[in-house]
Amino acid sequence: MEYALDPKHDPACIFCRIVRGEAPASIIAETAQAVAFMDVNQPTPGHVLVIPRDHHVYLYDLDAATATGVFGLTTEVAKAVKHSLQPDGLNLFQANEVAGQQEVWHLHVHIVARYTGDRDRIRFGWRTELPPRSELDHLAKTIRSAMPG
Ligand code: AMP
Ligand code: ZN
Repeated sequence: MEYALDPKHDPACIFCRIVRGEAPASIIAETAQAVAFMDVNQPTPGHVLVIPRDHHVYLYDLDAATATGVFGLTTEVAKAVKHSLQPDGLNLFQANEVAGQQEVWHLHVHIVARYTGDRDRIRFGWRTELPPRSELDHLAKTIRSAMPG
């Protein structure tokens, strides 16, 4: 697929469909530039994705307002994860292109809550099944309740 045109929404993109309310998601917060929602995969409780509202693939293509919007919301959600779920740490990462093992090309920042027991979980196996939607909704609500406004 040719991404150079950077269409506002790509109809084949699952994250664009989430932004448009056409696919299920446990949304934490939305702004004019960005949307934060629970990753369907929760190896530990508190795995959040933050995306630009429009279909961008590359970090280096974001204009200043969109970049500020995405990373501003990422910071707000990270604070809310810290306050509500009280993990012992947070991983923050973004990856794309062939090195990223991409499932979805819509640019997304991962916020991953980490706990001191993670070392054992890595050794003995992290949770691998996808949680039910009700659990994702509950996590989203818990995080949202720790956000200002
Ligand atoms: P990656 O392609 O490795 O950067 O990761 C894509 C991420 O998106 C993975 O962590 C998936 O679990 C997550 N993901 C894929 N589809 C959905 C969806 N419909 N809703 C929420 N998260 C998703
Ligand atoms: Zn998209």
